[in-house]
Amino acid sequence: MIIKMWGVRGSSPTPLTSDAVRNKIAAVIQRVKPADLVSQESRELFLSHLPEYLFGTTGGNTACIEARLREDEVIVFDCGTGLREMERSIRKHHEHLKRYHIFLSHFHYDHLLGLPYFAAMYDPSKEIHFYSPYPKMKEILNTFMKKPYHPVGFDSFNAKIEFHVLKGREIFLGDGKISWIKRSHPNGSFAYKICQGDHSLIYSTDTELKQKDFNRTERNLEFFQDADAIILDAQYTLGEAFEKYDWGHSSYSMAVDFAIEFGIKDLYMFHHEPLYDDKKMSSIQRSARWYTQRSKGLPEVNVSLAREGLELKL
Ligand SMILES: [Zn+2]
Ligand SMILES: [Zn+2]
Repeated sequence: MIIKMWGVRGSSPTPLTSDAVRNKIAAVIQRVKPADLVSQESRELFLSHLPEYLFGTTGGNTACIEARLREDEVIVFDCGTGLREMERSIRKHHEHLKRYHIFLSHFHYDHLLGLPYFAAMYDPSKEIHFYSPYPKMKEILNTFMKKPYHPVGFDSFNAKIEFHVLKGREIFLGDGKISWIKRSHPNGSFAYKICQGDHSLIYSTDTELKQKDFNRTERNLEFFQDADAIILDAQYTLGEAFEKYDWGHSSYSMAVDFAIEFGIKDLYMFHHEPLYDDKKMSSIQRSARWYTQRSKGLPEVNVSLAREGLELKL
């Protein structure tokens, strides 16, 4: 399966500021030496050695992850503002996709904001399937689109729309399987696991990890143990996690501990704090990687920041 990250920021969209762009350019100019500029090759080499936080950005769009199990259908986890980037990419590659499967973790704004501007919703040739364990999903989405919050209501969408209230523990889409588990978060939230063949990815945004989540219960083991990768809420530093107890998010150290506990090989820290710039995000990644090294003898975990545009092949 192929996974693409289109929105990785938590709570509110976070565009790059002019100051941030100027600071990046100033820091790059400080590093450059005359020898770096002599040829196309030397310039490319110089750029390739720049830290990611200078020559790129973590991204400011809110939660949206694309998963492809087959070429002609898209599975989407959450409809944050990253949804626009996903649609832009689909158009750019001239893909004519008929069917979208959208799984919603919960209904906080940062996970829905892209929906009113998702052009596929207005196209009668598209089929859009919404999935959530919340029985009131349809009413909640209708209310979100009501005037005066948006100029047109949910009934202005022309696509063929179906709502699927998830019951039990799993559903099958083609040769893929999607399962879900409840997470601790104000008003609730669900994590999803997508499996195809021997490969699996967990999407667990808006998750406040608590002691019970580390218990090796049958349910936790079935869902989390030995997954290939997890995209996991790691919005807070350790200090913030103490200050913001019960706000519904996790620290990067808890996220690392969790991935180690369940033998998950790749951890993508997600739902980044909107107040943090790329440099701060990079320092969090460094701290999280340092933190993994304290656990000698335990299963290893590769830790990365979830970034806009990042693509995983599982
Ligand atoms: Zn959120
Ligand atoms: Zn939330």
